[in-house]
Amino acid sequence: MRLCRFDDQRLGLIDGDSVVDVSAALEVLPTARWPFPQGDALITHLDAVRARVDALKSTAPRRRLDEVRLLAPVANPSKVCAAPVNYLKHLQEAEADPAVFAREHVRKIHETGLFLKATSALVGASEGIRLRKTERRTDHEIELAVIIGRTADRVSRESALSYVAGYAVGLDITLRGPEERSLRKSIDTYCVLGPWLVTADEVPDPSSLALELRVNGELRQSARTRDLIIDVPGLIELASSFYTLVPGDILLTGTPEGVGPIAPGDVIAAKIEEIGAMSVKVSAA
Ligand code: MN
Repeated sequence: MRLCRFDDQRLGLIDGDSVVDVSAALEVLPTARWPFPQGDALITHLDAVRARVDALKSTAPRRRLDEVRLLAPVANPSKVCAAPVNYLKHLQEAEADPAVFAREHVRKIHETGLFLKATSALVGASEGIRLRKTERRTDHEIELAVIIGRTADRVSRESALSYVAGYAVGLDITLRGPEERSLRKSIDTYCVLGPWLVTADEVPDPSSLALELRVNGELRQSARTRDLIIDVPGLIELASSFYTLVPGDILLTGTPEGVGPIAPGDVIAAKIEEIGAMSVKVSAA
């Protein structure tokens, strides 16, 4: 099942070139009062939502996909965890260009571990990237995004995939420079998630997907997730060994080689096999 959040907080089911407006399924979510439970309510209750979506989809109104405004499919993640250099060829390109890539960048993921991006940086495909500090270089990074479906505390790699709700295409937008990685990657709009969430049952093997990113039509990144240094189960094991993952938490799995600069006016086309494709506009903040 492919679920999107669109327009004015509506829930959509992707059906070819259409979006079925299944917002009525959100009525299964419990009403909550402060303090709100951690995590994203839609993902926490995804099984109940999916059952309602199935019941509603044949009679719900439909919209054309190209006429809706796509927001991030996860509205309220408690954290966005991200892998630093996690593809060997990207490690090699970073090592070859120390003027651009910060020193910490070229350490291996086994030494560096993971970092966090601010959840306030999260946007959907139609919201676009608004660049700050345009006098400095900002790069695109396409990444397979994993959305955690149930509470995961110190889980083994053998059971890790059973904690996944689904997958999406992620863009880990990165200002280059000397500051802490989490600061440079947490600028508003620097975490794009989209175009929708594909539930885990539709992606039996997240370690064999092709990723591709183009800027203004020019191919910049093309790789397969099988080349990940630490694969998806390994990343969930690593992350949950440090902190508890809760439903809706997003895990960005790292970017392959070919990262390059973006500028206002650019259009990024990003796609991952079995998940989908999205077009993201870049402008100046
Ligand atoms: Mn990254």
